[in-house]
Amino acid sequence: MKKISIVIPCYNEEEAIPYYYDVMQAVVKKMSKKSTFEFIFVNDGSTDNTLGELRTLAKKDKSVRYISFSRNFGKEAGIYAGLEASTGDYITTMDVDLQDPPELLEEMFDTLETGQYDCCATRSTNRKGYSFFRKIFTKWFYKIIGKMSKTEMVPGARDYRLMTRQMVDAILSMKEYNRYSKGLFSFVGFNTKWIEFKIEERKKGKSKFGFWKLLSYAIEGIVAFSTAPLVISAFIGLLLCFLSFVLIIIIIVKTLVWGDPVTGWPSLVCIIFFVSGIQLFCIGIIGQYLAKTYLETKNRPVYIVKETEKDLK
Ligand code: UDP
Ligand code: MG
Repeated sequence: MKKISIVIPCYNEEEAIPYYYDVMQAVVKKMSKKSTFEFIFVNDGSTDNTLGELRTLAKKDKSVRYISFSRNFGKEAGIYAGLEASTGDYITTMDVDLQDPPELLEEMFDTLETGQYDCCATRSTNRKGYSFFRKIFTKWFYKIIGKMSKTEMVPGARDYRLMTRQMVDAILSMKEYNRYSKGLFSFVGFNTKWIEFKIEERKKGKSKFGFWKLLSYAIEGIVAFSTAPLVISAFIGLLLCFLSFVLIIIIIVKTLVWGDPVTGWPSLVCIIFFVSGIQLFCIGIIGQYLAKTYLETKNRPVYIVKETEKDLK
């Protein structure tokens, strides 16, 4: 009998947790002949009663474990902690809002049982329940990162995927501090089967990803899996050098032939603004990479645990 570990990052999800647990019991029952389950909830520094809910669940059900962080470390850290703690033969991560359909788990399990695949991943073909602006943002993000990164980024890919122990160990062997799971999953390779589904709206609670969090997540992804922005900024620099060289020649020739009336002050100011803007922009790009390198070299832990189910008396 195989054991499935389910890693569930939770941030202020007091409403969603009991509901999620109840829904999952049906799946556990349905698959009880095939596999056993282990739920690993990760409390990512919630400020509501998430921890209380998790304690209650862990007290009444032995298959429920939890890891509680000392503060909010982000979803990626939650996934990492959960994967590290997992003991199952197959491991999956799931959002607690049930936007990842539990009924797909059996199909994913059967796929891995055939032995042909190391991973069965899901992608949503729509983005129901998300704002118009976010849909556009996501679409463009995948377009841009698709072009920039050598690692394949599947549009609409969820973190919801069932993986073998071997694949998870490979992911855990990457100790980087700036973790972008969608990229890491893809980077390690292995045979992956994709299943598509239509996403539903969040069942309980509210989305935890506002505009700024999403933007910084997107930049994280690009910086972690592509150095193309550096090449692009170098290219812009080269282009401007060439342009200024041509301009210098034109100006010299013009002055020699027609003389030098003092005009062109506004255009000069515009050019200075434009070029210094581009310079700052490119320095900003370099700064992003430098900042990430800086954080990596500090070797800080990805997360800090305050409490687990073992602390329950
Ligand atoms: N999450 C987390 N830490 C955070 C933000 C989110 O653990 O800092 C969890 C959250 O509780 C949920 C999952 O990540 O289980 C996905 O979050 P959400 O549904 O808000 O994201 P969205 O569906 O808007 O992309
Ligand atoms: Mg969600």
